[in-house]
Amino acid sequence: MKIFLDTIGCRLNQAEIESLARQFRAAGHEIVATAAEADLAVVNTCTVTAEAASDSRAAIRRAKRLGAGDIVVTGCWATLEPDKAASLPGVTRIVPNLQKDSLAADLLGLPQEFFDLEPIARQPLPGLHQRTRAFIKVQDGCDNACTFCITRLARGASRSRPLDEIVTDIDSALNGGAQEIVLTGVHLGSWGLDFQPARRIPDLVSALLARTSAPRLRLSSLEPWDLEADFFSLWHDPRLCRHLHLPLQSGSASVLRRMARKTTPDSFAALVQSARAAIPEVAITTDIIVGFPGETDEEFAETLEFVKSMQFAGGHVFSYSARPGTPAARMKGQVRGDAPSPVLEPGLSRRNRDYHAPCRNRDYHAVKARSATLRTVLAESAEAYRRKFIGKTMPVLWEATSILTDEGWQIEGLTDNYLRVTAIAAEPRWNRVDAVHLTDLRENGLTGKQINTV
Ligand code: SF4
Repeated sequence: MKIFLDTIGCRLNQAEIESLARQFRAAGHEIVATAAEADLAVVNTCTVTAEAASDSRAAIRRAKRLGAGDIVVTGCWATLEPDKAASLPGVTRIVPNLQKDSLAADLLGLPQEFFDLEPIARQPLPGLHQRTRAFIKVQDGCDNACTFCITRLARGASRSRPLDEIVTDIDSALNGGAQEIVLTGVHLGSWGLDFQPARRIPDLVSALLARTSAPRLRLSSLEPWDLEADFFSLWHDPRLCRHLHLPLQSGSASVLRRMARKTTPDSFAALVQSARAAIPEVAITTDIIVGFPGETDEEFAETLEFVKSMQFAGGHVFSYSARPGTPAARMKGQVRGDAPSPVLEPGLSRRNRDYHAPCRNRDYHAVKARSATLRTVLAESAEAYRRKFIGKTMPVLWEATSILTDEGWQIEGLTDNYLRVTAIAAEPRWNRVDAVHLTDLRENGLTGKQINTV
């Protein structure tokens, strides 16, 4: 069969779809770059925001429109709203998250052991944006109870993959040419806590540094309460990327309490200080939610001040969107958006509709303004972080070639500390590493000059 794989949302979904590709290839099937040439399309959906759920539906419709044969839908949105997913044109099967690991085996009628034994190299998915980084799932699910979070409902309880399986997966990605391994999970920092005896994320990272030859090992998002200061001593190994993504969500202690986050601004600041003391030039990035139910002007001002003081190397700002079924969606002080909200769609409970009843677009615009202010602050601190590297020479892993100019190919890649660098090269250098002298700032990155290959 010719199989098209599409994914929406987080790095974990990306990791899963890459793993599926490896399994389908191992069974002799071909992964194709577009749905137009596919006998089968698998769409891995997301529901973290209303927009992500809408993107998921659009991806399914696009696969049908382009002419994919059967369409199989899995992922968080399909798990929480299976009837809606099944009603979309062309969808022949819904696979909930808990059965996703055996999706290929079930579809192909093969025993799961077939894939456990098959040593085929894991390669990037075909298409315009082939990845140089391999996303490896090490954990799924979450036992926390952040009140805004739909992901934990869609993914279930936390469960960790055994170390040996992860090592096999990483070796397979390295055999396929991956230059960078990114460890992903819904709640990555809880890896190993469900084992007997329990293990912890530092055990995983030190074991992977010892047992694999990954040239670069990167950790995706880590919740701040999972980390202790001595964790950062592992960064003595230069293969560990100096980049920590620590979701803050709010810089206000009272909003953090309403979110049921297990952190405070003070403990977050102390953690950042420990990381910076142990890891020179570490890039610390974050996520913030703006417009959480009941967020007052004072609470937003606290967040703004805190974010300024943290001098993040970058971050994402999300306008809060109520996800049906989460505790936050039932809190007072919801901000109603201008755009149609998914909670007004037919089929949802009356209770879910009621909490959106008062239309307060004044608040909606206030949230938009807050988001813009916070984005400006983050852009300024990100630029200040990038500026420190002008004049330095750093290794860059090239991950994209855009255009051929009169001077040569324009190439783009990442340093280990997540600086996005562009340069002009005599040839496309996809998936290669060069030493680059960083010369200037550009929007969201830096420009540089290739020195040599490293
Ligand atoms: S830590 Fe919180 S935000 Fe993250 S997946 Fe778990 S419940 Fe959701």
